[in-house]
Amino acid sequence: MVTSTSSTRETPAGADVPDVTSGSEVPGRTAVPTPIPTAVSPRSLSGLLPFLRPYRLQICIAVFFLVMAAVATLVFPLALRSLIDGGMVDASVTGDSANAGKGEQLLALRNHFLELFAVAAALGLFSAGRFYMVSWLGERVTADLRNAVYSHVVRQSPAFFETTQTGEVLSRLTGDTTLVQTVVGSSLSLGLRNGVMGFGALIMLVLTNPYLMVQVLAVLVLIVAPSAWFGRRVRKLSRASQDRVADTSAIAAEVLNAIPVVQSYTAEGREADRFNLSTTHAFKTAVRRTRARAVLVAFIIIATSAALLWGLYQGTEAVIRGDITAGHLGQTVVYVIILASAAAVLGEVYGDLLRAAGATERLMELLQTRSAVFSPPNPAPAQETRSGSAIKFDAVTFRYPSRPMQAALTDFSLQIAPGETVAIVGPSGAGKSTVFQLLLRFYDPQQGGIALDNVATRDMALDELRQRIGIVPQDAVIFSTSALENIRYGKPGATDDEAKAAAKAAYADEFISSLPEGYDTFLGERGVRLSGGQRQRISIARAMLKNSALLLLDEATSALDAESERMVQAALQSAMKGRTTLVIAHRLATVQQADRIIVLDHGRLVEQGTHAQLMERGGVYARLAALQFSV
Ligand code: ATP
Repeated sequence: MVTSTSSTRETPAGADVPDVTSGSEVPGRTAVPTPIPTAVSPRSLSGLLPFLRPYRLQICIAVFFLVMAAVATLVFPLALRSLIDGGMVDASVTGDSANAGKGEQLLALRNHFLELFAVAAALGLFSAGRFYMVSWLGERVTADLRNAVYSHVVRQSPAFFETTQTGEVLSRLTGDTTLVQTVVGSSLSLGLRNGVMGFGALIMLVLTNPYLMVQVLAVLVLIVAPSAWFGRRVRKLSRASQDRVADTSAIAAEVLNAIPVVQSYTAEGREADRFNLSTTHAFKTAVRRTRARAVLVAFIIIATSAALLWGLYQGTEAVIRGDITAGHLGQTVVYVIILASAAAVLGEVYGDLLRAAGATERLMELLQTRSAVFSPPNPAPAQETRSGSAIKFDAVTFRYPSRPMQAALTDFSLQIAPGETVAIVGPSGAGKSTVFQLLLRFYDPQQGGIALDNVATRDMALDELRQRIGIVPQDAVIFSTSALENIRYGKPGATDDEAKAAAKAAYADEFISSLPEGYDTFLGERGVRLSGGQRQRISIARAMLKNSALLLLDEATSALDAESERMVQAALQSAMKGRTTLVIAHRLATVQQADRIIVLDHGRLVEQGTHAQLMERGGVYARLAALQFSV
């Protein structure tokens, strides 16, 4: 019996992929990208925490270097003050005393310079350490994030890809993760360093000029509030801008995959215009974001500088009044410069953080998408694989999620014995491919159940189920690697000899051997360097190497020349031997060799029997055969 789907979701096989999605499960069967509530601040960056957690040690080291570099910077003005007040000012005051005194002065001066150099050297070393560690973290986290998103996306059911364009996913994988890298690998460290330094400088200023700095602090608070408000707007625009970039990638990916068609319709100009329109849109959104950010940066820099210059002005007056020394003022000036530049950098960094927050949000959205189809929590134990699988469709009714009103299969029942060859025929759109999709559990039917070797497919682990099924699709898929590796795709651990034996059985050995580098020949992206019949035979060899008990064949509709056709037919016959085969048939030869033919029409099984029986009946099949199998 087929039990109903539980709400437990599939655990991605990559065990080291951080689980960032707990608590946001979508029970049931529909894949719905769970939108993240639109937060108001760079808080969305917290989505990155699970990716940072494994690198606590590295983060601690980075923070150590960061703090030490900041401390070294803050010590600098102190060393400068002691140089001015101890080494230089004293020399001018005691300028007319004995030569011995002057010698001591020079020695002291040298010591002060050595001190300054020591501080500078420490600053250099700590900065280098910080730079290395932080960059390392940025690269590492980005790589992990890319891997997590990618391995999550490739596990999604086809329903996901019906609503998400591959180009968009690609854009998120590259563009958005690069933004995150900028933040983790530089902006964050820049921000932290300037934060620590700015804060330290502020403390030092307050300690050395208490009354004055309290006033400046109050003014600073008045600056932070409007900046935060403005930042929200920048963040929204950042997200929009990234979305527009993803749109352009989606268009490019689609068109580049269909170049021959585009060119045959001489649509290059139209496609270029469509892309142009999309990039223009992306550009305009980016400009709006940049404008908002520019205003934010200008405001922060001008307002902070004004506040600090005002403080400095008061400080200068204090020196003139004789309240503080020249060294004290020098030290204050350097602290003020540090504080002002820190504030300016922080403004910039904040903008970066907001952009990355938008990117993180989008990546987390992807990671939170739950596949509509997942393995049961306690899968049924694996059955012995025999020389063919038994299949049972039990009153299956199925509607595609994107077309819920129209049933692709209605009350479909079918039983197939181990080793049987069943041909599925029917007019276009009758639901033939849908039978395959359901067997592979790319979708779950809304009613009824499917069993393989008497175990409901929903109760089997997804991997286990698909491991038992070999498929030869209508359009052979060739990966951009060698002929040998393309066949080995069917069974990754197979030896070269096994792969070659499969090629021989699929009548592919001869043509592969005559390729320039034999089995090592690179087949080009999507196998563009092979003929249609050759691609099909590689695809058949791949399925044969997998050696599954159930074979699903979707016969190519496109006509091959007689010789090619003969080879492909021979390959198919050899692939069918000794296993249960379900074949979507378009050839008379195929249906004649089938043990049974089932006829689908509008998602219903309308007739079944042998070719002779069905011809005699004079029903849908006879009409179809007259049209389809006339040659
Ligand atoms: P053909 O011989 O032309 O390949 P078929 O018999 O294999 O046709 P199916 O691909 O199974 O037909 O499609 C059955 C019905 O389901 C059709 O009406 C089709 O439009 C619809 N359909 C197929 N795939 C989807 C999908 N992913 N989303 C929504 N509807 C779909």
